[in-house]
Amino acid sequence: MMREFIYQAAPSRVIFGAGTLSQVSAEVARLGCKRAFLLSTAFQAKDLTALAEQLGPLAAGQFNDAAMHTPVAVTEKALAAYDACGADCIVALGGGSTIGLGKAIAWRNDTPQIVVATTYAGSEVTDILGQTKDGEKSTVRDPKIRPEVVIYDPALTTGLPVAMSVASGLNAMAHAVEGLYAPDANPVTSLLAVEGIRALRDALPAIVTDPTDINARSAALYGSWLCGVVLGSVAMSLHHKLCHTLGGTCDLPHAETHAILLPHTAAYNAPAARDALAPAAALFGGDLGGGLHDLARALGAPLALKDLGLARDDIAKVAGLAVKNPYANPRDVTRDGIEALLTRAYEGARPE
Ligand code: NAD
Repeated sequence: MMREFIYQAAPSRVIFGAGTLSQVSAEVARLGCKRAFLLSTAFQAKDLTALAEQLGPLAAGQFNDAAMHTPVAVTEKALAAYDACGADCIVALGGGSTIGLGKAIAWRNDTPQIVVATTYAGSEVTDILGQTKDGEKSTVRDPKIRPEVVIYDPALTTGLPVAMSVASGLNAMAHAVEGLYAPDANPVTSLLAVEGIRALRDALPAIVTDPTDINARSAALYGSWLCGVVLGSVAMSLHHKLCHTLGGTCDLPHAETHAILLPHTAAYNAPAARDALAPAAALFGGDLGGGLHDLARALGAPLALKDLGLARDDIAKVAGLAVKNPYANPRDVTRDGIEALLTRAYEGARPE
């Protein structure tokens, strides 16, 4: 039976394919811009400098200090540099941290953004900005935040370390799994979610075998785009709330935390969202939580929160925070239930 739904597509322009980095200049011109401000982390500074050389006079300035969780102090520094060089658009090259900085600038001055996405986090296709100030992470949503143009060039991802690729790929799958049981899910986001999970399920093992396999890199980036669109389209639930708390309160790393929790949150919600999750479960032999755990193990992903530095005492604190503010979730979020979930994730046990 077809249920009722609302479908609203977000405007986006996506350029996909090996070698598409060469199209940044044309995209800057297409936006009617002449002075691009380039962003990356220190780790990708060399790639950014190469891009600046490629852009020639279109590159007005460069900032290489993007940092995880978008600290407001870094944004203010970058914004001052943006203004000082008279830039009229942003080109962000990197993962969620660099993309977050570009979004933070655009939220403040509405500058157009071109993003060259080099991880599987999916931030490039959402209108969500998470930023931190005085140790507190807050989230804003605004149409100004969503980048105007996204370039996916799989050739830039062959150097993404295998461990990061695996964690980031599972991070992407988490958007899709939660998208399937979202209260505002619709048939289009559900199709994207299942196809995104399938693409990553198939691509990640091939990347572990050969990180330079351009077909596998291409398939993973394709899957992460679809998962990112789901993240940007519908509401997220228990999984993202728990990861947000573990990242913000316990300072755990973003992608790895998502990778560890996903099998457990999927297993927790499975009994209450059986129909919605059925097409994803079918990709894992019918058992989504167990199947995701087995995949993560086979890929060499981190499995235990204790290995990320979580203290056992933090479990009760995080469970307390998880039940504090109500949000939509298929299964009741109880303190006991969440403590049990986190304890299994802490130990790295297979979900029940
Ligand atoms: P990241 O951007 O922090 O990247 C991790 C490291 O890998 C960095 O040093 C980066 O420079 C390097 N790197 C990235 N791509 C590379 C490549 N292809 N080759 C070599 N090195 C590469 O990691 P992430 O997981 O992509 O992003 C995490 C951040 O993004 C978090 O702050 C998270 O909150 C945010 N995020 C936001 C959204 C959103 O919609 N707002 C969505 C997902 C993630």
